[in-house]
Amino acid sequence: MLSHITKTSNPPSLCRRKKQKCRTRRVKIIRNRKATKEGVSSLVQKYWLQRYNLFSKYDEGIKLDEEGWFSVTPEEIAIRHAEKCANGVVIDCFSGAGGNSIQFAKKCRRVVAIDINPEKVVLAMNNAKVYGVEEYIDFIVGDFFQLAPSLKGDVVFLSPPWGGPSYKDIQSFTLDLLKPIDGYSMFQVAQVIAPNIIMFLPRNIDLNQVEELSWLSSPPLDLEIEFNYVHNNLKGVTAYFGDVVAAPLGC
Ligand code: ADP
Repeated sequence: MLSHITKTSNPPSLCRRKKQKCRTRRVKIIRNRKATKEGVSSLVQKYWLQRYNLFSKYDEGIKLDEEGWFSVTPEEIAIRHAEKCANGVVIDCFSGAGGNSIQFAKKCRRVVAIDINPEKVVLAMNNAKVYGVEEYIDFIVGDFFQLAPSLKGDVVFLSPPWGGPSYKDIQSFTLDLLKPIDGYSMFQVAQVIAPNIIMFLPRNIDLNQVEELSWLSSPPLDLEIEFNYVHNNLKGVTAYFGDVVAAPLGC
């Protein structure tokens, strides 16, 4: 395909713009070949092109499985989450490939990273090593909902499964669509650990329902909503509850 493009003979009157277009296409094909060489499936190539937004140290040995490509929090947003947490112990309840845990580890005293899938925990451990922060993270393979009553921490971070990329097709993403249990029940479980909760949610989340969560406590929890952009693209919405709202930046 590459040689086909290079050999295309254009009439002498071809404008510069068209030539430029051909060149851009060539670069794209080369990049995609590199992704294929890395074993990245065609489904996730779109995400692979943004790999440095996900992990700036991607080239130093970051590992992701297919689901990880869709669901890892972009690094810039994970840094922001970590900046907002108080200087204490953070429980990352659905840690996946570790994008958030790594940034928490850089800013906070200690991180407890939980995932039900042992393969995810192996990926997270590898990725934390790449960033040199593995010693600040306690990795646990387990079901967050079973572990919750025995967990102690200052901030609970919830980045639950959104149901894969199809969440984008929903007009208003309601809290009952979060997995593995609805957002209201999940929030109540988190409150048993600490009243300081950070939830990373889809960009089309029903904000009225998020507001309702803050009234579940008596007195109601402080709430701050943040729209998270990467290169002008809205990637998600973060809801900060409790003391993390007023927390000074920089733990
Ligand atoms: P999605 O692709 O829908 O966005 P994610 O990949 O974000 O889903 O899911 C986040 C992580 O949550 C996954 O790594 C998954 O293994 C983990 N997970 C799911 N259920 C639980 C649970 N009950 N306790 C701990 N981790 C869980």
